[in-house]
Amino acid sequence: MSGSDHGKINTVISAWLCIAIGSAVVLYSGSSPFSLALAAPISIAGVVLLVFGIGMKNEESVDYKIIKNWEPESDLLPDAGGPMYRIDTTLVEPIRTSVLCGRCGNVHWSEGGRPHSFVCPICEIELWRDEEE
Ligand SMILES: [Zn+2]
Repeated sequence: MSGSDHGKINTVISAWLCIAIGSAVVLYSGSSPFSLALAAPISIAGVVLLVFGIGMKNEESVDYKIIKNWEPESDLLPDAGGPMYRIDTTLVEPIRTSVLCGRCGNVHWSEGGRPHSFVCPICEIELWRDEEE
C-alpha cells in the first residue's frame, strides 16, 4: 500500500470519527441548543472530510483508468488537400503512440513516442516525414 493510499484511508477514518463524535454528543447530551451547537460543526466537518476522502480516492482511480484505457475514436478526418492524420501519445507508461489515418480511419499503435516518419499500412500513403537535421 502506498503512502498516499494510507493518507486517504486516514482521512476517511477521521471523517467517520468526527461524525460519530458529533452524533454521540447529541445522543448523550440531548438535543439542547448547546450540544447541537457543539455537535453540528463536528458532524459537518466529518461529512466534508468523508466526501473529500472518498472523492479524492475515486477521482484518482477514474482518471488513471481513463488515461490508461483511452484511445482515439476511429473517425474519418476531412481531406484538406493532403493526407490528414492525428497523433496521440500516451501520458503514462508504457508510452505508446497512436496514429489515426484520416484517409482510411485506421488507428495504428506503435511503441514509444512520435516516429520520424509514418506510412499508413492500409492505404500505403506516407502521412509525414520529418526533415533531416
Ligand atoms: Zn490509411
